[in-house]
Amino acid sequence: MKRMWIGGQFSDSVSGRVREVRDPANGEVLDGVPEAVEQDVDAAVSAAAGAFAGWSRATANDRAGLLHEVANRMREHQKALMEILTREQGKPLSENEEEIEWSANTFDYYAELGRHEVGQVLPPGDASQFNFTLKEPYGVVACITPWNYPIMLLAWKIAPALAAGNTCVIKPSELTPLASLYLVEHCLSHLPPGVVNMITGTGAEAGDPLIRHPGVDVIAFTGSLGTGQHIASVAAPQMKRLHLELGGKDPMVIAEDAEPEKAARALAYSALLNCGQVCTSTERVYIPSSRASELKDALVEHVRSLRLGHGLDAGTDIGPMIGERFRDKVEAQIDEARSLGAQVLTGGRRPERLSQGAFYEPTVLSGVDHSMRIMTEETFGPTIPLMVYDSFDEAIELANDSPFGLGASLLSSDPHRVKRFFQTVRAGTIWINDPLTDNYAGPFGGMRLSGGARELGQEGFDAFRTTKHVHWDFSTEPKDFWYPYD
Ligand code: NAD
Repeated sequence: MKRMWIGGQFSDSVSGRVREVRDPANGEVLDGVPEAVEQDVDAAVSAAAGAFAGWSRATANDRAGLLHEVANRMREHQKALMEILTREQGKPLSENEEEIEWSANTFDYYAELGRHEVGQVLPPGDASQFNFTLKEPYGVVACITPWNYPIMLLAWKIAPALAAGNTCVIKPSELTPLASLYLVEHCLSHLPPGVVNMITGTGAEAGDPLIRHPGVDVIAFTGSLGTGQHIASVAAPQMKRLHLELGGKDPMVIAEDAEPEKAARALAYSALLNCGQVCTSTERVYIPSSRASELKDALVEHVRSLRLGHGLDAGTDIGPMIGERFRDKVEAQIDEARSLGAQVLTGGRRPERLSQGAFYEPTVLSGVDHSMRIMTEETFGPTIPLMVYDSFDEAIELANDSPFGLGASLLSSDPHRVKRFFQTVRAGTIWINDPLTDNYAGPFGGMRLSGGARELGQEGFDAFRTTKHVHWDFSTEPKDFWYPYD
């Protein structure tokens, strides 16, 4: 059984209860983790609060050295981390190799950004004055992560939060806590005690007391819209700083000039990566009526060639979904679409040979429209619903017809269409011809129901710094605008 990490020491939960973690590809029990309750949360927040004074006053150079060391250790432990991630989360090993690489690089990136500047000198209002801002850490940051990219989304929070001088309490998803615990033990344990703490357990028992805790200054959360709304309602009266990365319903528009075979490959990757369980997965696709049949044929042929299996098996393109209840949701959306007239071109069922895991065949649908939940609600599974459009303007209107606004993709080589797309589509990230590729310096996040936070880049750093303005007048003479008024 694994243990939590509080105040620089391994710790069991006062509940004494253990939660099993299973391999979604075959149901095998992998290990157990403590089920934290309120007293454990209290201990973790106290440890983080106690470590804040020392960590926030450490020099940026000292913090940078320790964060580069996190990155180095992650590279040393990359193989073990990849394997644990594949077992507990399901996606193929190569995708997890990338997840660890990305995460290590995120620590290097923020280590350097952290020693770049701590504020600005401002033009004074008078010659005797000196005005400047100080960018300061908030205090204790609660980092609550989902199961789809357990290490990367943790890195996107704690690397900037720590570089800015905050201390952290992490609560990983109860479905995928093992890689996060391994990370703490092998890659974060050289940090001063209390700077990083990790509690495990469910959202209700461990997450909820954490977001309510008066000692928590910032809540950095990635997860579903429903949980985000709950967190916002709890945090608002306490005026806690919120950083919410929520769900999406990302569109892809394939322009008339896109070449069908290449478009099919880009689309399949952006819709099926991590079995469609990426917050920015392409979840609805708009194809031009003039090229619809060529595109459908190319896509169906390509999707049928993809191999499902355990993520550790060589040659696996797509692993399982994370669990039954998530697969049930995908099936319900497909059933509804079918009942309303959609056609399944391939997939639309559980593969018989992989019956022990939460597998689902990648599914291409046509004849869908915005009366169906599969085109309006987050699916988070291996589906590619295709809707035909007649004009590019109509495609843009359809792309914008959603309360979410996380990402949006366009496949086109026509600069007029590209410009029109990035100027008029409402989404936090616009991808042209290269869906789902991130950039450390490029802020990532959503608009509207996708949450307004940004991770990565300067914005992802400033999310963990508060601004103080210092107005300093060297002159001690009374001002002529003070009382009494003439
Ligand atoms: P979830 O909301 O069920 O859980 C996320 C985390 O919140 C888990 O650690 C969970 O234990 C915790 N939690 C649940 N209830 C809580 C409560 N009352 N108080 C505090 N914490 C609580 O989400 P999930 O199923 O793990 O993740 C999938 C969702 O995450 C999808 O909607 C996806 O779009 C979204 N997501 C968004 C991004 C992004 O950057 N915008 C990235 C990845 C995933």
